[in-house]
Amino acid sequence: MSKKVLTIALAGNPNSGKTTIFNNITGTRQKVGNWPGVTVEKKEGIVNRHGYELKIIDLPGTYSLTPFSVEEIVARDFVLDARPDVVIDIIDASNLERSLYLATQLREIDCKVLFALNMADVARARGIKVDAKKLSELLDLPIVFTIGNKNEGIEELLKKAIELAESNIDSSGKRRVRYNKDIENSISELRDFIEKNSGISIPYKTRWTIIKLLENDKIVRERVLQKMGDQGKNLIQQVQLHRELLADRLNDDPEIIMTDERYGFIAGIIKEVLTTITKQRVDISRNIDLVLTNRFIGFPIFIFFIWAMFQLTFSLGAYPMEWLENSVSWFSISLDAILPDGLFKDLFINGVIAGVGSVIVFLPNILILFFCIALFEDTGYMSRAAFLMDRIMHLIGLHGKSFIPMLMGFGCSVPAIMATRTLESKKDRILTILITPFMSCSAKLPIYIVLTGTFFSAKAGNVIFCIYFAGIILAILTGRLFRSTLLRGADAPFVMELPPYRVPMVKSLIIHMWDRSKMFLKKMGGVILIGSVVIWILSSFPRDIQYSHDYVAEINKVKSLYNSEIATADITERPYIHKKQDAVIAELETARKSEEVEKSYMGRIGKILAPVFAPLGIDWRGSVALLTGFVAKEVVVSTMGILYLAGDEGAGSLKNALLSSDMTPLSALAMMVFVLLYLPCIATVATIKQETNSCKWTLFSITYTTLLAWVAAFCVYQGGKIIGFS
Ligand code: GDP
Ligand code: MG
Repeated sequence: MSKKVLTIALAGNPNSGKTTIFNNITGTRQKVGNWPGVTVEKKEGIVNRHGYELKIIDLPGTYSLTPFSVEEIVARDFVLDARPDVVIDIIDASNLERSLYLATQLREIDCKVLFALNMADVARARGIKVDAKKLSELLDLPIVFTIGNKNEGIEELLKKAIELAESNIDSSGKRRVRYNKDIENSISELRDFIEKNSGISIPYKTRWTIIKLLENDKIVRERVLQKMGDQGKNLIQQVQLHRELLADRLNDDPEIIMTDERYGFIAGIIKEVLTTITKQRVDISRNIDLVLTNRFIGFPIFIFFIWAMFQLTFSLGAYPMEWLENSVSWFSISLDAILPDGLFKDLFINGVIAGVGSVIVFLPNILILFFCIALFEDTGYMSRAAFLMDRIMHLIGLHGKSFIPMLMGFGCSVPAIMATRTLESKKDRILTILITPFMSCSAKLPIYIVLTGTFFSAKAGNVIFCIYFAGIILAILTGRLFRSTLLRGADAPFVMELPPYRVPMVKSLIIHMWDRSKMFLKKMGGVILIGSVVIWILSSFPRDIQYSHDYVAEINKVKSLYNSEIATADITERPYIHKKQDAVIAELETARKSEEVEKSYMGRIGKILAPVFAPLGIDWRGSVALLTGFVAKEVVVSTMGILYLAGDEGAGSLKNALLSSDMTPLSALAMMVFVLLYLPCIATVATIKQETNSCKWTLFSITYTTLLAWVAAFCVYQGGKIIGFS
């Protein structure tokens, strides 16, 4: 017997606990994707309860269903078009008044609605009492109290939802907003008009459609025109007449009056059902905010948190990173011993494991970084950070909100760019996406470490700090530039919500952390794997190159020479001679490998690129390394390892190889500046494309960053030469 399927949509204000309840219900059985055509996250999950298969959908958090933002449109379209069996409106019981606007609009749509009065604990603690029975009567719908983060009331909620779905009560609520007489008259006249012209079939429920048309809702109007053709045109004409009539009578646009009346309706409900016990209560959140958003000490505290986050990411992450590095090399050595020699082994060990392994080792750092970010978000501190940064961000013409993605950019641009989804204005989003790659991501750090360690040993820390700082400055400068040219526009005023501080739930912290890390791993894993193989192919083919020396013969010559020396030498001398022999052979091997790479396809590409990078003081090997950085920035180091002939890729020997190359501290600095700014890695480019949904902006980002990188590195190198820095 197949189970009956019910679709349940979760609607609600942002921060009302929707996702928490969704996670409680679905646990790990969730699917995360996007709503078709837009970059708003869609989460759904399927669970079996009480003999039903329940399909749960987490709608975007919104304050209303007035189609101003993408989230609102997505949420409304889902309720209208997908016709879920039940919509559960998750209401923050401690904030009832604000939640009721959405609730009223849901009621008006005439779908089956159920309220979850969530945050029941917070409401109680604040002395807020909601008369649920009365509220349920007033709006004619079932209500369940829940405490999302303690998983209380959730089963009851599902049971009620199933009951409601199965009941065949007429949901066209009697209890809904009554507008003033003029508006109600227009509604019934228009309804008559529709009924008289019996051919007219309206895509949505009649009363709702009429209300929306009277409110001049563009989307509904377009759909009416689209689906109803000429009849639609007639109807719109009639509506237009009524709108003019109403505007004349009411002395204001009907939509404004109707909104006011909805608020009036809500105010009435509030009066009936809400009692606030006005006892002297300590508002903890407000007290914490007195410190954390204080004009003077708020900022240092914020800097301290950021510093602590990086400290934790890099110092705590260093241990598991070392274990992973050891495991990867152990794995590689073991395979080396097991697999038969040949092309396949070479590909597997020097291509796949070397490439993918170099990324895997960053997993602990990434997990820690994302854990910290989830902690900031779930406690409510993130919005305080945005609040603090607001003034600085206004220099770029952006809101403090844009700072959150930028901050995440220090970890990885991919989730950072995804985080721009929280910005309402499209221009703000694009601007933030364009400057986020300048926030030096963690994958670039290994490059800085290798280069500064080699050329600036004592001052390495300061140099790295300056590089990061330069990234921030350039982000601000380019942001300013774009704001006043390509993305002109006033920053729309908005209220920075400061939700109350909360003790985060471990489960949701882990889900948030894992969500982001998973995306990172999936994207990086696939791309890196392919990239590594391509790099391996390019640097190991063609196979039949003409060596300038006969290395095999030379090595044999060295061997026989030393062997005869060993045979005649004193027994105590022999170990030294062995060592010398090994060193000479290693040198020859290195030279052979060097020639191999130089004559490979990779070397040939490098030689072609070299003239472009010569003015920056970067030789062909550096050029190739930078090119491979498109795959992932970590790859730059491993490519340098191969090309500069550090036989075993350890930073120590790469250091020697770099020191004996043509590279100088100045060219190293130029290279770091280039790395800081130039084109983002392939995963980031893909994300930019996905989030801007525009090839134009994606191409722009690639070209702009690379040009800027070249110019900046050029200035550093040539400028440094002029002032005599070397
Ligand atoms: P969404 O924006 O609606 O998806 O809200 P979230 O599910 O992300 O919840 C926001 C915060 O509220 C999280 O930190 C939750 O742990 C917390 N939260 C959710 N439900 C409750 C509740 O009933 N009581 C309390 N005190 N906190 C809750
Ligand atoms: Mg959510």
